[in-house]
Amino acid sequence: MPQAHPVFAQAGETIFETMSLLARANGAVNLGQGFPDHGEPEALLRLAAETIVTGSNQYPPMRGLPELRRAVAAHAARFQNVTLDPDTEVLVTSGATEALADTLLAYLSPGDEIVLFEPLYDAYVPIARRAGATTRIVRLEPPHWRLDAASLDAVLSDKTRVILFNNPMNPTGKLWSADEIDLIASRAKARDLLVVADEVYEHLVFNDARFETVLAHPDLRRRAVRIGSAGKSFSLTGWKVGYAQADAAILEPIVRCHQFMTFTTPPNLQHAVAAGLQLDDAFFGELTTRMQKKRDMFSAGLRRLGFEPLPAQGAYFVCARFDQLRKDLSDLEFCRWITTEARVAAIPVSAFYDARPRTDLIRFCVCKKDEVLDEALTRLTRFV
Ligand code: PMP
Repeated sequence: MPQAHPVFAQAGETIFETMSLLARANGAVNLGQGFPDHGEPEALLRLAAETIVTGSNQYPPMRGLPELRRAVAAHAARFQNVTLDPDTEVLVTSGATEALADTLLAYLSPGDEIVLFEPLYDAYVPIARRAGATTRIVRLEPPHWRLDAASLDAVLSDKTRVILFNNPMNPTGKLWSADEIDLIASRAKARDLLVVADEVYEHLVFNDARFETVLAHPDLRRRAVRIGSAGKSFSLTGWKVGYAQADAAILEPIVRCHQFMTFTTPPNLQHAVAAGLQLDDAFFGELTTRMQKKRDMFSAGLRRLGFEPLPAQGAYFVCARFDQLRKDLSDLEFCRWITTEARVAAIPVSAFYDARPRTDLIRFCVCKKDEVLDEALTRLTRFV
């Protein structure tokens, strides 16, 4: 039997796939996997479809269509007051995941260390380990998931090369405070580290809170990579159009990795996303308002049922404690139980930790039509 690399040979199926299969088998409302079931601007769908027929279907430029790179830069200037050179400081990738992989492969060597924060998006750890790095993980604690200096300092060493954080954060909905970003910046500056910010939920920030990209931080503009995704900003997760933005010298090795990884991304989708990024402020504002309403409506419903939803300042998830309902079950058991019995699927928060510790939290994805969320609450009410 040919030997595969242990990182992938030993990786199991992701919990998202497992719960989606279980949801399908039980006819459950799937609030597990994080994908929207609505909200695509129809004009973008039509533009992508028309461009397949009217535009080129050959390899577009390796860094991305110039019009999309210009749109990414203009979007960063409009919403974040950050000036980027579209020719040298923007790279289009096949989803944020490719941008993350390109960045980690470009910057990590065997023996290096990367600092991550739990709970975390499940792709970070295997990519970092496949790049040969050791992961040093800071565990943030509910309900506020705050980072303090002592916990960060405890994982930094002479081998640290990269600090990666997700803002707003999946699954917790945490929006990183200016103080926390200052803390990361001060350590990155002192130790000459690269900071990678996964900012795919940049437009999902609630209650008029202010999101600031890492590139707006004076000490991070020349040592950080900002990663975005059209999948999240336009509710088009299947398109897998992402972008990395960084100082030209920082971006260059990432571009080289992308060159050999995928080289490019479908041109019709890039063309449509370029148009999407130029939509007016009202489009992005409406997305935020709509998601905030869903978060509030679903959290209130959960509270009535005896769950304890945690505060979320961003992203489209609600994490809720379930121990008032069942103390005897682990989060995974609880998710299986409600998927098969109440026919509503969620994700155990333990899946967002490297060591899969038992937690008393489950994550519901709320970027679904109101009637889908209502149906989920009705089923849970009948059941509880
Ligand atoms: N980062 C985070 C935090 C995510 O939640 C996701 C999608 N679930 C991604 C990256 C992946 O984005 P994409 O589909 O553009 O690769």
